[in-house]
Amino acid sequence: MTATAAHDSGTAAMAALIGRVREVKLLESTASVLGWDQETMMPEGGVEWRSAQLAHLARLSHQTFTSTQTGDLIAAAMDAVAGLPEDHPDRVDVREIDRDWRKATRLPEALVSELAELSSKAMHEWAAARQANDFPRFQPWLERTVELNRQKAECLGWPAGGEPWDALADSYEPGLAAVEMQAVFEPLRKRLQGLLDRLRGAPRRPSNGFNEHALALADQERFVKFVARRIGFDFSRGRLDRSTHPFCGGSHCNDVRMTTRYLETCVLDALGSTMHEAGHGMYEQGLSAERIGLPMGEAAGLSVHESQSRLWENQVGRSRAFWTWAQGQLPAFFGEACDRFSLQDLVDGANVVEPGFIRVEADEGTYNMHVMIRFELERAMIKGDLKVADLPGVWNGLYKDFLGLTVPDDRRGCLQDVHWSMGAIGYFPTYTLGTLLAAQLFEKARTDLPGLEEGFTRGDFSPLLGWLRKNVHAEGRRHRLDGLCRKVTGKPLSADPLMRHLEGKLLPLYGLA
Ligand code: ZN
Repeated sequence: MTATAAHDSGTAAMAALIGRVREVKLLESTASVLGWDQETMMPEGGVEWRSAQLAHLARLSHQTFTSTQTGDLIAAAMDAVAGLPEDHPDRVDVREIDRDWRKATRLPEALVSELAELSSKAMHEWAAARQANDFPRFQPWLERTVELNRQKAECLGWPAGGEPWDALADSYEPGLAAVEMQAVFEPLRKRLQGLLDRLRGAPRRPSNGFNEHALALADQERFVKFVARRIGFDFSRGRLDRSTHPFCGGSHCNDVRMTTRYLETCVLDALGSTMHEAGHGMYEQGLSAERIGLPMGEAAGLSVHESQSRLWENQVGRSRAFWTWAQGQLPAFFGEACDRFSLQDLVDGANVVEPGFIRVEADEGTYNMHVMIRFELERAMIKGDLKVADLPGVWNGLYKDFLGLTVPDDRRGCLQDVHWSMGAIGYFPTYTLGTLLAAQLFEKARTDLPGLEEGFTRGDFSPLLGWLRKNVHAEGRRHRLDGLCRKVTGKPLSADPLMRHLEGKLLPLYGLA
């Protein structure tokens, strides 16, 4: 074969593989839009049929992806890219498709479709049980979810010395193991506990007044959309709607669907969750349209995804620099309603630390404690050490132990999160890993971009977004979490930048520095 002919057959092998994975992406992204619709628009009566639609799409995409023909296409493409450097985009695409294919082929089609159908129905049951504060209603659905996820873990397998939880977590954060997570959580818990103890005895209490100030929902909606646009979310390629649980989904980098929710008493809740979801949304919008459906056009994993949302929500949205700009915008949306709040009141409101029951409303100081509790519980449920029936009691015990709180009811306890009803077990720790990465990335961005925060005070956020686009978004799935962290910041992932961020901000705010 001549060199040109070999090149042509290599290109043809890649083209054939790309064609196949795009078919899968078409099916998966259709399911994603249906999932968004279920949470935002669908009438309640639609749930049975929607569950059947989603199960059917899951079956079809699983069949298409796991066929032996796909395996042959991967093998041919692997030969074609063998001579390229390891981090070449084509080579990364084939490596990651192969990894996904090997995982997916271990799962029987019946299990995949049953899990899809179960999660659609269980989410619906969870929402009703949560509203009625009725854990026994949700219990059989969670029992079935745990059972099927245990089967899934058995099919996928886990490395020697590991445990079933690892097999499930790998889908959200490749290679993540429970022992490794525990080694991050244990020292972090001690450090956070130490900080919380200091704040508890502090001489100054930040004012909570802005948090308790009622503002019209329609005005809040206009304001948070304005902020989302200003930080860089492109509304010609995305939407912001309302849902019970804020999330970011969609079907394509040019069709990103994010949601938020509004509470009359607190614009900071809607603002925080909008900036959070916009962080996810801008990551999606920053992925390569040419590589759509291919690993180089996908997010690196959920921890990196979460680093983007946490960075905009916390490092930007709770900063004095951000509020210096945002304060001047308030009259255009709320008239005189916010006039009596000083800049210090706004910064205080965004940074009050107060242990609470609800993870999504938690401040930066206590947030990771909520994640640690969920990790312990899901790990024990999957191992078989904790029966679903005993979940509420053990949940409440951990809230007492970690945060000193007495959980008043299951609605504000073990029924608060959607994740387990969706079958997402092994997902929660990515929130903390993402929080650590956010702090580490932001420290580096500050060094690389002099005057970064000075720009925030004028409402200029584009240097930060540009930096993230180049260093994180354009990298697709080339690196795993730790590899990306080392490449961008020059160091392994660590809790030090997060602790520096929290102490540097909270100690002065509480009159301790
Ligand atoms: Zn998130």
